[in-house]
Amino acid sequence: MTNQNFLPFALPEIGEEEIAEVVSSLRSGWVTTGPKAKQFESDFVEYLGGGLEAVAVNSATAGLHLGLEAMGIGPGDEVITTTHTFTATAEIIRYLGADPVFVDVDANTLCIDVDAVEAAITPRTKAIIPVHFAGRSADMDRLLAMAKKHDLRVMEDAAHSLPTTCSGKMIGTLDSDVTVFSFYANKTITTGEGGMLVTRDPEIAKRARVMRLHGINRDAFDRFTAKAPSWYYEIVAPGFKYNMTDIAASMGIHQLKKANAFQQKRAHIAALYDEALADLPIVKPPQSAEGDIHSWHLYVIQLDDSVAITRDQFVERMFAQGIGCSVHYIPLHLHPYWRDTYKLTPEMFPVSQRIYERTLSLPLYTRMTDDDVKRVVSAVKEALK
Ligand SMILES: *Cc1c(COP(=O)(O)O)cnc(C)c1O
Repeated sequence: MTNQNFLPFALPEIGEEEIAEVVSSLRSGWVTTGPKAKQFESDFVEYLGGGLEAVAVNSATAGLHLGLEAMGIGPGDEVITTTHTFTATAEIIRYLGADPVFVDVDANTLCIDVDAVEAAITPRTKAIIPVHFAGRSADMDRLLAMAKKHDLRVMEDAAHSLPTTCSGKMIGTLDSDVTVFSFYANKTITTGEGGMLVTRDPEIAKRARVMRLHGINRDAFDRFTAKAPSWYYEIVAPGFKYNMTDIAASMGIHQLKKANAFQQKRAHIAALYDEALADLPIVKPPQSAEGDIHSWHLYVIQLDDSVAITRDQFVERMFAQGIGCSVHYIPLHLHPYWRDTYKLTPEMFPVSQRIYERTLSLPLYTRMTDDDVKRVVSAVKEALK
């Protein structure tokens, strides 16, 4: 049993609609990719405003891998990304035998530093992967203009950003080549495990659909309509096993309907934190640009230099008071694999390094009550003493 008094760092909100839809999939006998996955894809396109293709996959990691594969990235190529992210953003570059080139983040957004990206471009550079850290969009206007100038592809890691806007436009609808969302258990909407690749490029969508299911030249969906005998298929590439099950999609269909209400709840909690923490020696999270939506996937605070204790001590004090906290992220330049393979040092990433040493993420999820927020705030005050 979980401790009644412990306030976890994250919790999904799953309603009776999701449960009933999952049960209906189980009863239907169609438990893997089928009509529900197809519906989730079309609902997702509609949610973003149309004019796109969506490919449902079993994780954002899978979607990021498929996106880069569809762009033809391979050995000898370089892909520029941020050190201040989860390892999935970079590991998919290695899956294809290409090399990540890590750059620092902008201190004002905690997202990729566009000037640093431009400075890191070489003749081998093929693509850029920005991350909308915590749900605040990266500076996509500048990044996309710069990518266009240098003829580079852009794939957005949108694992934190449903819904997020940039200059009034939904993430997923910008002019990048691919955008990938995550529905992992602690993300803004969840299917347990799952992700969605969206693109405007029909060739990328086609390739991702083929590679999502073993390199089979037609989808399992076609079994409903195909004229050819249903046992027949052709393999056109050594593909992957990345399709989303109808069980997961059943959750996704209803989670998506709640995405805007979830965002409003998260924004409400973030506003309560902003107000309650205002007079404390804490640097608040970057806000979105004027008029833009922040998904508030994470509420990341930074301990001011005047705070005498370390971040680790602070997190321990929060846990001792029954409050779960997390750290986003241990930057990639500190992990043995990335550090040793690419000879990375903290001095190369001063902003990310400083943020890492002084930040932590407070609990923020839709099931938190205003009293839960007050409890976290008192624990923060106590920990600062
Ligand atoms: C969660 C996350 C991913 C991976 O998502 P999965 O759906 O678990 O594969 C990728 N990038 C970032 C920034 C994430 O937070």
